[in-house]
Amino acid sequence: GPAPEDDAIVREWLAATPEKFAHFVDGAFVAGTHERRFETIEPATGRVLAELPAAGTTTIEAAVAAARAAQKGWADLAGHDRAKMLYALARAVQRHARFLAVLETIDNGKPIRETRDIDVPLVARHFYHHAGWAELAADEFRGMAPVGVCAQVIPWNFPLLMLAWKVAPALAAGCTVVLKPAEQTPLSAIAFAEICMEVGLPKGVVNIVQGDGETGAALVGHEGVDKVAFTGSTDVGRSIRVATAGQRKALSLELGGKSPFVVFEDADIEAAVEGVVDAVWFNQGEVCCAGSRLLVHESIADHLHQRLRERMETMRLGNPLDKAIDMGAIVSQQQLTRVRAIVETAQKEGARLFQPAAALPETGTFYPPSLLTNVAPASTAASVEIFGPVLASTTFRTPAEAIALANDTRYGLAASLWSENVSTVLHVAERVEAGVVWINATNLFDAAAPFGGYRESGYGREGGAAGMAEYLKPECLPAPRGKVAD
Ligand code: NAD
Repeated sequence: GPAPEDDAIVREWLAATPEKFAHFVDGAFVAGTHERRFETIEPATGRVLAELPAAGTTTIEAAVAAARAAQKGWADLAGHDRAKMLYALARAVQRHARFLAVLETIDNGKPIRETRDIDVPLVARHFYHHAGWAELAADEFRGMAPVGVCAQVIPWNFPLLMLAWKVAPALAAGCTVVLKPAEQTPLSAIAFAEICMEVGLPKGVVNIVQGDGETGAALVGHEGVDKVAFTGSTDVGRSIRVATAGQRKALSLELGGKSPFVVFEDADIEAAVEGVVDAVWFNQGEVCCAGSRLLVHESIADHLHQRLRERMETMRLGNPLDKAIDMGAIVSQQQLTRVRAIVETAQKEGARLFQPAAALPETGTFYPPSLLTNVAPASTAASVEIFGPVLASTTFRTPAEAIALANDTRYGLAASLWSENVSTVLHVAERVEAGVVWINATNLFDAAAPFGGYRESGYGREGGAAGMAEYLKPECLPAPRGKVAD
């Protein structure tokens, strides 16, 4: 069952020093004056966890100014000294791993097993990896300079991990940041601000402003920002692109997905079934690269669907703090309503819905693992990003048809291919247009591997050398000295 002692450490933190439920500017928590306020809710219970201010122009101005004032000093540090700070952040994340995992689970609704074994270890790994880059950047990116002050806006599905993906490369490159967490999940960023203070990160290097889309729009539009990095919906990404088009800012966008999960007739079916669990029921399906479109060879479709239905019956849904739980709560009532609406539309369009029989918890925003079969390629369920635990299944006959279906999307973030035949998977992998293609695997991430999309999944990469390059620009070299030979 749930571990009450874990719960208690976070409830205590929530009760102590209310001043921290604010913005983090120039190394200190600041309340903001006359600002709108919003609540963050615990998805599994519906309880209010904290009330926070939404940054207005004065707070944003102060945060950008602090980042600007800190930027040159941070960039002028020897790479080795920036690396020391990134190592310290990584170690502090590990020291506080249990607390961070519980806090993230309470605020987001995702299972503790995932925050403990996946989110938080990947956060630490991201800072370790980028500590290495901080040390190497001057040599590896000779002639490049940090882009400067970065505005970073992140979503609610992996709050602390998305923060790490944004902050670590920026800091390694010598940039300073103003980051806005999602309004649904603002808490782990506050814990991260405390970690920045604990390790003695110079003030102004990391600033955090709380708020919703209005705050986000004001931040990315601020004239003092040199680069915008955004992860979230394609619609908001598009609006940011329009809003910044007339400005001098660099921009990288990490947007939605509708990634294919392709199962060929010779696949290891049991492995593929577990793959589906990780692809679309991991994190309640709230994953931008979720394998949400099952494309299955028609000769094995009935068998695979049957095995999936049996597996779904064994999935445990409930209190995300319970270590035995496989699926937690959907992040918000709004997101739950959205998922329900898409599934209803899918049924009206002819898809058949299967959900396991187990009853849902009585409180909280829960939605069961779901399988839609008989999904027509052009239908809503096959084309719209659901961002919930819903798998939409379509059959194919030939590898060529599988490739065509896989690429029949506005997106192109990821793909997962299942076959025991190496020729089949290599042939198909080359032809699927996606930022990452997993073979007999899914949802694998590494700080060293660039992650990003094709088409409306956005542009720019996060992770590895390609991710570092997003935070660098060609240096303005001093004019050559001395006499130029004639
Ligand atoms: P969203 O794009 O609305 O929000 C993401 C972040 O952008 C949040 O911090 C939000 O406050 C901020 N934001 C909103 N409007 C803004 C604006 N005009 N300018 C600047 N910042 C703004 O995403 P959402 O509402 O949380 O989720 C809606 C859909 O987005 C989901 O159903 C899913 O399809 C997609 N999504 C994708 C990812 C991803 O990782 N690619 C993550 C979360 C959501």
